[in-house]
Amino acid sequence: MLSKKITDGTEFVVFDMEWNQPMPGKEYPFDVSRLTGEIIEIGAFKYIYDNGELIYKSSFSTDIAPVKYTKLHYHVKKVTHKKNADLLNGIPFKEAYLAFRDFCGDAILVGWGSSDPSMLKMNLEFFEMDPKLNMFFLDLQPIFSLFAGLQGTQRSVEAAVDFYNIDKNEFFHSATADAHYTGAVFEEIFKHNKPSAVISAISSSSIDPDVPSDFSFVGPECLDGPSAFATSKKFMTTCPLCGSGLNVKIPVFRIRKSQYALLECKEHGELFSRTRVKKNREGNYYAASVLRFATQNDYWLVASKKEEFDKYGEKGKPAPQPEEEENET
Ligand SMILES: [Zn+2]
Repeated sequence: MLSKKITDGTEFVVFDMEWNQPMPGKEYPFDVSRLTGEIIEIGAFKYIYDNGELIYKSSFSTDIAPVKYTKLHYHVKKVTHKKNADLLNGIPFKEAYLAFRDFCGDAILVGWGSSDPSMLKMNLEFFEMDPKLNMFFLDLQPIFSLFAGLQGTQRSVEAAVDFYNIDKNEFFHSATADAHYTGAVFEEIFKHNKPSAVISAISSSSIDPDVPSDFSFVGPECLDGPSAFATSKKFMTTCPLCGSGLNVKIPVFRIRKSQYALLECKEHGELFSRTRVKKNREGNYYAASVLRFATQNDYWLVASKKEEFDKYGEKGKPAPQPEEEENET
């Protein structure tokens, strides 16, 4: 049964993948945007949660022989230290994936950054296999930032390894080594923090990669900002997955050019919402909104904006600091 509830016996599979990229400028007999990377390696470590700690259970590692991008892209070559000849040692993707999926069982998948599940699904789709992973996925990167007091920043797995003084006896940037390091960081997070706090952060951050988690809305043109904000109201009050009304956890507030809120669908979990009003070339206003299942970064973002709003109001923290660029996606 697919669940993100963590109890004694819950399994986690910490994984990492490497993929090769198309050669720039080369013609391929298919649309390259359907396969922006072809997976060439999967590495994974399985842990069992037991009474406040992670117990290592077993590992999985496989090289995959690419069939579309058979020569290593120079960037991939540089980062992974692989050679073209190494690619020949791999097994077919289908065989590798089925073995990996079998290894995972009912575990919660854990990775560093959010790109691996989407790359995996892209490869499954391209090679005409079932793209449903049927597993929850946890991005450990923002969980690390949260417990390391580095909220809102993105750190590499190597930075996290340094933070906890974990031995660096393997090269980074092989799937197996990076999965190993990510697992070691995961263990440390449990060792250095209250397990109940870690569990609560993990449960609320695990997502189902088989359902869309990010939704956007662009409103019609309006003559002024407030009417533009108003057009997104319906979008921001119903769950994009089931259409039911959302509960309000942090009510809508506006700071500078953005409106934020934290909402909740009883069935699907908490949603981060942000609306910005933009001006088009004709001088008309329109709303651009995002609604997404909240990650640890989103909780931090909305909470820190709320704190700033409570302190300084709609205009935000005043100069001398130049207005901060808000590039979060
Ligand atoms: Zn819902």
